[in-house]
Amino acid sequence: MSTKTPARLQKDFKEISGWGRYPRSSAAIVSPETIEEVEPSSYESMIARGQGRSYGNAAMNEGGVVMMTEKLDRTISFDERTGWLTAEAGMTLAEVFQKFLPRGWFPSVTPGTRFVSLGGCVAADIHGKNHHHDGTFGANTREIEIVLADGSRVRSSPEKNSELFWATVGGMGLTGIITEVTYRLVPVESAYVVVRHDKARDLDASLSLLEGEEWDDRYTVAWIDCLAKGRALGRSVLMRGHHAQAAELSRKIKEPLLLKERGKLNLPFDLPQWVLNSLTISAFNQFYYLWQGAKREPFVTDYATFFHPLDSINNWNRMYGRRGFIQYQCVLPPVESLEGLRKLLEELARERRASFLAVLKRFGPQNQGLLSFPMEGYTLALDMPVSDAGLFRFLDRLDEIVLGHGGRVYLAKDTRVKAETFRRMYPKFSEWEKIKRKVDPENHFQSDLARMLEIGKQ
Ligand SMILES: Cc1cc2nc3c(=O)[nH]c(=O)nc-3n(C[C@H](O)[C@H](O)[C@H](O)COP(=O)(O)OP(=O)(O)OC[C@H]3O[C@@H](n4cnc5c(N)ncnc54)[C@H](O)[C@@H]3O)c2cc1C
Repeated sequence: MSTKTPARLQKDFKEISGWGRYPRSSAAIVSPETIEEVEPSSYESMIARGQGRSYGNAAMNEGGVVMMTEKLDRTISFDERTGWLTAEAGMTLAEVFQKFLPRGWFPSVTPGTRFVSLGGCVAADIHGKNHHHDGTFGANTREIEIVLADGSRVRSSPEKNSELFWATVGGMGLTGIITEVTYRLVPVESAYVVVRHDKARDLDASLSLLEGEEWDDRYTVAWIDCLAKGRALGRSVLMRGHHAQAAELSRKIKEPLLLKERGKLNLPFDLPQWVLNSLTISAFNQFYYLWQGAKREPFVTDYATFFHPLDSINNWNRMYGRRGFIQYQCVLPPVESLEGLRKLLEELARERRASFLAVLKRFGPQNQGLLSFPMEGYTLALDMPVSDAGLFRFLDRLDEIVLGHGGRVYLAKDTRVKAETFRRMYPKFSEWEKIKRKVDPENHFQSDLARMLEIGKQ
């Protein structure tokens, strides 16, 4: 590169990882400050990275370039009548909350953390607790701008260049760099949520609660005790909520759209690995089931506590120790869910592979995203420390169960699925690959995840 290249675009090699801190690899980091500086052809292989909140190796590119988008965070326009926000793709949802919630607008879909970029949310086609009502992030996106490998800036939407749109929504950054996103915000009267908790004594009861209209609300999720066995297998606490209207709030809350800044806890070092073992996790799961399940009356809580509970602890990912952890998330179609989930939980309990947090959600119908993860059915997410080589064999066995029941794993969480298994899980992959070859014939956009999945291999 010429010596005139600004420092932010010069290659600065660093070791990085995803949120799970496993695996790690080194890449040259560049950080454009304007959309005009996003020039893929100036570099060899590259991948975009937003906030690095994907758990695995999706936003990593060993030996190549990783383009950080965090400085591309400007608001371009906001339509106060309709809630459509157009912003640069590096803007985070935390910034969206900060800027727009005081004005009465809330992101239509938010994942379990707000420290994610709009571009990362499109690329992983993320889902929230309301997928069964409102679909994915991509389904709430009207238009994106992408910079392709040849440097051209292309606008695409479900109507215009729709092929590229649906290959990019869920395409894990492999079609190009998303630079702008037009995304829906919904009107709310407050920054609070009315929440109800209900206990389910086993897996059957958990699925019945998630399915039952009378138990439903706009946001619904179940925390599951993944170490319960026998008759209690799959017991859970269903947590459901909706945006509190002003009339539902205590009079003490004078400014319903504002939350006080709260201090954050910090985990300054890696916890020793023995702290989270099957005994301590089992004890935590029992306690949590009784504690959360005991909340019988509806209560009001702020949106951050309901949607993003872990965001209040900086570096909580150090809890799993130096070697990091893997989040395993899969989805199974409705008719297969009961049987498939039972087998997954039995495997987990049998191997005493404890998950500190295990979450069960219901998904509505899938969209047209060719590599989009959500499909109608139930999704289970489990966190597991990278403790021993046996973990990977164990996860391969879970993959077989998932495949055998017509399901798939989530690429934004993954770091180890086999290329062949991935192809069987994502039947529209060959359709997606044709578009990838068309827009990126030299396979310029690459990541550690893509190489693991043998994408772009001729
Ligand atoms: C605590 C926690 C809770 C979570 N809860 C959920 C949840 O409820 N639902 C859910 O679906 N996910 C969830 N996630 C996962 C997270 O929402 C996704 O991984 C999301 O993609 C992260 O956004 P990011 O900006 O950090 O993207 P990164 O991790 O930086 O990148 C993720 C992918 O997006 C691509 N990408 C990023 N920016 C761009 C861009 N501008 N152009 C093109 N490609 C780009 C990257 O190449 C990569 O493939 C959670 C993660 C954490 C840590």
